[in-house]
Amino acid sequence: MRHLLDTRTLAKDDALQILDIAEDMAATQQREVKKLPTLRGKTVVNLFYEDSTRTRISFEAAAKRLSADVINFSAKGSSVSKGESLKDTAQTLQAIGADGVVIRHPASGAPARLASSGWIDAGVLNAGDGTHEHPTQALLDAFTMRRRLFGGTDGTGGRGRDLDGVSVVIVGDLAHSRVARSNLWLLTTLGANVTFVAPETLQPYGARTWPVTVRHSLDEALREDEPDVVMMLRIQSERMHAAYFPNEREYARNWGLDDERFGVLPERTLVMHPGPMNRGLEISSTAADSARSTVLEQVANGVSVRMAALYLLLSGERTDNA
Ligand code: ASP
Repeated sequence: MRHLLDTRTLAKDDALQILDIAEDMAATQQREVKKLPTLRGKTVVNLFYEDSTRTRISFEAAAKRLSADVINFSAKGSSVSKGESLKDTAQTLQAIGADGVVIRHPASGAPARLASSGWIDAGVLNAGDGTHEHPTQALLDAFTMRRRLFGGTDGTGGRGRDLDGVSVVIVGDLAHSRVARSNLWLLTTLGANVTFVAPETLQPYGARTWPVTVRHSLDEALREDEPDVVMMLRIQSERMHAAYFPNEREYARNWGLDDERFGVLPERTLVMHPGPMNRGLEISSTAADSARSTVLEQVANGVSVRMAALYLLLSGERTDNA
């Protein structure tokens, strides 16, 4: 694998390989000394054109635990705010000798442009591009599901397994969500059944041509789809330039995982959220802080999954052009 740009084109074997290597990485993170020498001498640049807390810290921790040198570059306070183009920035990174570039960008397709441009030799990892994809988020979500649903107590984490037959209901601001798109493609590849729940205004354009059940009622989805996983999404106000729902109270009442809905969820159903959460809007604190919530596990697992992705892309000689 040369780049990790999306999950839509990620083959099942490659996805399972990342998840299984992430299990090995997770095992090393239980040790007192968490650092591995794997990427010693390599340089990873975190190139963030959009705000991020979890993803940036997670990639930084992952690269450092593999002994890579990490350079954090945020667009604010850099020459990007002086109008420098992606090409000029990329060529600067090439001159510095970057082996890997982790990029978050408001424009869908920016990571793919960087990877195919010929401006740099580095491996490119998409850390979220516009409303398009966020592949490592979907991989850490799948990893979390596999561990919780099939990991049992034998410590295997469900190694080697796909998610055949698992029912996942994804709820909320799907229209603006790269997390929903990346999850849909990956979960479908791994054999899960996915339902999107949102008012029509927040359904993604084209969703009816995708391999997903589209619903407008959360109560109907919880009743009909018998979800193993309910994944709540953040209302992305920063990407909204119109009124997509009447008001926050109405939204929470119809599409929020409030205490009442949480109270009737089956015991086995996991509650997921990629963060950051709007507590009281899409999810109640009772649901977010419950034992069935995987919110913090998702963050912890993110480091193992990103270690696996960096390892696969950057270890060894980068001669594979596939
Ligand atoms: N952190 C995720 C993302 O960057 C989800 C969100 O922002 O709501 O896409």
